[in-house]
Amino acid sequence: MGRVASYEVHCPLCGGITGQGFRPVRAGVECAACFRKAIEPLRQQAASPDARRRMRRYAPELGQLAFGNRWSELELPADLASYAAQELYALLDRIGHGYVYEATGPDMELRSYVWADCRCQGDEPDPACRACKPNFRLADLEFRWYKHPGRGLTVNRPTTREELERIFDRARLLVAFGLVQLRDG
Ligand SMILES: [Zn+2]
Ligand SMILES: [Zn+2]
Repeated sequence: MGRVASYEVHCPLCGGITGQGFRPVRAGVECAACFRKAIEPLRQQAASPDARRRMRRYAPELGQLAFGNRWSELELPADLASYAAQELYALLDRIGHGYVYEATGPDMELRSYVWADCRCQGDEPDPACRACKPNFRLADLEFRWYKHPGRGLTVNRPTTREELERIFDRARLLVAFGLVQLRDG
């Protein structure tokens, strides 16, 4: 296999290196720290009582209770869940994943539903436990689902449509810049 050339992608805001992309691009994309700073107002909005009121505590399906991937605490309201699922499927198409996949980018991770049981001991989650990892994370927003993104979609904290749009815009950009690396299998 030949070596794949990689290019540094710079942050237009702080000038730091956002990551190593595999496509030659001139324009930059925000580094993880600048992106987190940029969405902070939206994050605070998402923590408001109005946004919180829209979220419900998730009640897992029976099969989900038995074994496999952990779920997050909160269920997205139907409108946000269908928007997020649509964006997640589009993202997966763009990445061109197989049945089992794991993709990582700057402050981003995306992986298929895990059938394995949790191996954590005690209260501390084991960083090596695959069943406890989010299926999608960008910045501090984590998504987990049951089998596929269209089912049992949960999040670790309240969010809003506006914030979700920024999150998925960034995910799209990271993929376009070749900053997301996929490992199949
Ligand atoms: Zn930056
Ligand atoms: Zn675990």
